[in-house]
Amino acid sequence: MPASAPPLNLDRIQSYHAHIYFGTPEQRAIAATIRDEIGQRFSVQLGHWRDQPVGPQARGMYQVAFMPGEFARLVPWLMLNRRGLTILVHPNTGAPKADHLLHPLWFGEVLDIYSAVLPDHGEPEDDIIPNTQPSLSP
Ligand code: ZN
Repeated sequence: MPASAPPLNLDRIQSYHAHIYFGTPEQRAIAATIRDEIGQRFSVQLGHWRDQPVGPQARGMYQVAFMPGEFARLVPWLMLNRRGLTILVHPNTGAPKADHLLHPLWFGEVLDIYSAVLPDHGEPEDDIIPNTQPSLSP
């Protein structure tokens, strides 16, 4: 975004993704623990395990999709509980390339993003249908 451009309004953010990355078997086991803990505490849509890099992602991971209302609980919880894993949190504003390259938060190592597969302007995100049944408070 050019320095002279007006600020973007928050209402552009339809939802967020957190991508939880792992490389080694030990990291995958930690990722599994974190996934269970997220499911017990937050109303989110847990995505499939991706053991191989897919799309713009440079490493195995799974995605956690969530609505803006869950951000203030989930993201600080991830700060406290990532146990050394790398996590990418990005907004979904309808601009996939910018959302991954200009607007993300990285916890831990900053990984490559294969931006060639990311369009400047994408389709609106699918509605997030939570598939967790949280029973614990964060
Ligand atoms: Zn994503």
